[in-house]
Amino acid sequence: MKFVDRLRNALNIQWFPNPCRLCGEEAGPAAAFCTQCLAGFPEPPPVLALANGTVHAAFLYEAPVDGLIQGFKFHEDLGAGRHLARMALPVLAAGRPQALLPIPLHVSRLRQRGFNQSLELARCWSRGTGIPVFGQALVRARATAVQSGLKGAERAANVQGAFRATGLLPAHVALVDDVYTTGATCAAAAEVLLAAGVRRVDVWCLARVP
Ligand SMILES: [Zn+2]
Repeated sequence: MKFVDRLRNALNIQWFPNPCRLCGEEAGPAAAFCTQCLAGFPEPPPVLALANGTVHAAFLYEAPVDGLIQGFKFHEDLGAGRHLARMALPVLAAGRPQALLPIPLHVSRLRQRGFNQSLELARCWSRGTGIPVFGQALVRARATAVQSGLKGAERAANVQGAFRATGLLPAHVALVDDVYTTGATCAAAAEVLLAAGVRRVDVWCLARVP
């Protein structure tokens, strides 16, 4: 918790306004969103079973979560990412993987964006669960086109062979990504992990496209 939030809590003072990140109305001490906006957040989708793991998402990829994630990824709104990550934790932490593996960005994309949103999420979820982040376990072997402009089969072809697995890996890991759409990126990453001896590859993400 930030110092100013702790102070506000400790003194129970209401005269620091704390606007909701969505509507600007008073959100209450240390809260990111007002109760009315929170009531409009999408539900978590059901856990999705894959051949060698399960996909856990905290929200359906719908308003207002979609806009908050876009702000986090494309407009450096790291605060939005952190708030969503904290809200997601109780849903995700039900599974107990032995390591969290953020989906890496190619170095050219990382340089452009300045941060890897998946690594930011993995760090937050590691702090909340004590599960270590294996930040170097997956490497982007090559740059890929932006997935959001592609259709299903094109997405799979685009990320085929995009990853390499490195180092010693535990039997049960979770990939960390912001949005799970067709699953092509995670499937390509899971393929190299399973080939490297990992037995179970779950996915932890903020949101899943229905
Ligand atoms: Zn609000």
